Amino acid sequence: MCTSVQIPQVQSTSTLLPGQIQSLLQPIARDDIDALSREAQWETLLHCGRKVFFRGIIEFSNVCTCDCYYCGLRRSNRGVGRYQLAKGEILRQARWFADRGFGSVVLQSGQRRDPRFVGFLTDVVRSVKRETRSAMLPEGLGITLSVGEQSPEDYGRFFDAGAHRYLLNIETSSPRLFRRWHPENQAYDSRRRCLEYLRSIGFQVGTGVMIGAPWQTAADLAADVAFFKDMDVDMIGMVPYIPHPAAPLAAVVVDTAAVRQRRALLAIAAVRLVLQDVNIAVTTALQALAPMGREKGISFGANIIMHQAMASGCRKRHTLYNAKPRDDESNPDFQKALESRIRRLGRMVGRHEWGDPPHVFHRQALLRQSA
Ligand code: SAH
Repeated sequence: MCTSVQIPQVQSTSTLLPGQIQSLLQPIARDDIDALSREAQWETLLHCGRKVFFRGIIEFSNVCTCDCYYCGLRRSNRGVGRYQLAKGEILRQARWFADRGFGSVVLQSGQRRDPRFVGFLTDVVRSVKRETRSAMLPEGLGITLSVGEQSPEDYGRFFDAGAHRYLLNIETSSPRLFRRWHPENQAYDSRRRCLEYLRSIGFQVGTGVMIGAPWQTAADLAADVAFFKDMDVDMIGMVPYIPHPAAPLAAVVVDTAAVRQRRALLAIAAVRLVLQDVNIAVTTALQALAPMGREKGISFGANIIMHQAMASGCRKRHTLYNAKPRDDESNPDFQKALESRIRRLGRMVGRHEWGDPPHVFHRQALLRQSA
């Protein structure tokens, strides 16, 4: 059943209460969905401007020591061939993105905390920074890391090497749900502490949750949005949950893909209304669930698009969830068509710029004022 919601006024959206946020995330009437989308786009233009930025994702390894109950890369999944890209291949992909006007890349892998891995990645970050400098990007590509929970010292090493953003999904802000989605040795408190370390080290911090995963309610999701606000994060990725057959949670029945997709879009809009000046990414999972997932994400308040790396033999082995990539994203015609659809939404593509979230600059200005 659809309920009718009152879309709050622009001035007051950043102070929405969890109950009001929740009313945006429940099944709502078509007209209300359209109104929410318009409001979210308006807030995006107001706080972040017209530009949409692409992030090139380099999935450099699927080796993982974690055993998350929802993830296809979990350690216990023996059905996936494990790989690790060599430094030269990672650099080649980074240059490929830089040559095409991408301002930033995301280096993503499973979680490993051994010194060999940390040393390798630190060296890779330094090399990518050094080798992607150009007249258009004098400081090289912006680098976001997404390699899970690490010690504060190792986070510091990555930061000193030149990475300036870090994505670590909290997955859910509910400790109760977190416990049901993870084995005992992976703790909610430790994930949350990592977000705090990252901020204190100086990273721009991104997080996100899985939407429509087992046992999650609209109230849980509303609490997630309030959590993002409390943590004062800079970047958000709202990921629709997609069951993976090799993961134990796939046995639990969840809403249909269409319902999860719609809820993810509503959640993107809710985050935009409440957090306003953060970057919100359309993730690959949103693209996998429905055609035009990217464009829909943009029209509900996202301003960042995650773009798969150039065709690589390893693509098929980086399967967090059970969905095939729909497009050959390395094809120039595909990229051109996507950009023209973005322009038709009244937006433009930011090129040769890092595309940092305005929230970072606003926070820094506030800190200077209070100093
Ligand atoms: N190892 C890193 C990055 C790996 S990407 C880390 O731990 O942060 C992992 C992300 O993919 C997760 O944070 C989760 O949000 C997403 N993911 C994993 N399995 C998923 C699934 N079945 N459906 C949707 N998203 C999933």
